[in-house]
Amino acid sequence: MSHDALDRRACDRARLARDPRFDGRFFTGVLTTRIYCRPTCPVKPAQSRNVVFFATAAAAERAGFRPCLRCRPEAAPGTPAWRGAAASVSRALRLIEQGFLDDGRSVDDLADALGMTARHLRRLFLRHAGASPTAVAATRRVQRAKTLIDQTTLPMSAVAFAAGFTSIRRFNAAFRAVYRRPPSALRRRRARRQSAADTVAARQMRRASLSMFSATTAAPARNVHASVNAAP
Ligand SMILES: [Zn+2]
Repeated sequence: MSHDALDRRACDRARLARDPRFDGRFFTGVLTTRIYCRPTCPVKPAQSRNVVFFATAAAAERAGFRPCLRCRPEAAPGTPAWRGAAASVSRALRLIEQGFLDDGRSVDDLADALGMTARHLRRLFLRHAGASPTAVAATRRVQRAKTLIDQTTLPMSAVAFAAGFTSIRRFNAAFRAVYRRPPSALRRRRARRQSAADTVAARQMRRASLSMFSATTAAPARNVHASVNAAP
């Protein structure tokens, strides 16, 4: 059916490269075996002249192909199995966001909460989130801390604990690993920017009061300007 909508050359390149970005976007039917596969199938790819492409698993089956037992087209992106896994990962991401992995609980505990093994959870994370649960939690902690540094004047120790770090040492190490500088350096930069902004605002206020002054008095603007500049 939507056979023609698929770019045959692009599909062939994707399947030969086992490009995961194409997983779920098309299926390859192998004419010699009458089996259809995901682009990421681990089996040695068939020769290009022996394959046809389908937009959906249903189209491949309608054309008389059987699903591959190795790459399991029933678990490809967009299928119910895939959506189930993606939903589990979303739930796990929400729990991590709420600090599940920040207070001493482990990935095993997280897996327990989701009713699966830690090994399975890690596999799902790599596939759906592109990183391990631990890495996701670590990134979120640093992001939360960065936001607190930018938006509050909390001392660094308070930032560390509010962001979910269990020690200042871990906070400093995690921050350095991401930003290549200690957390306090980011606040100093912000403080400099802030004082520059204050100077500009003060200058604008002075200019505004100056023009008000010029408008309401007959004093020569030049002299007023000089006295404003002389002010501390
Ligand atoms: Zn396969």
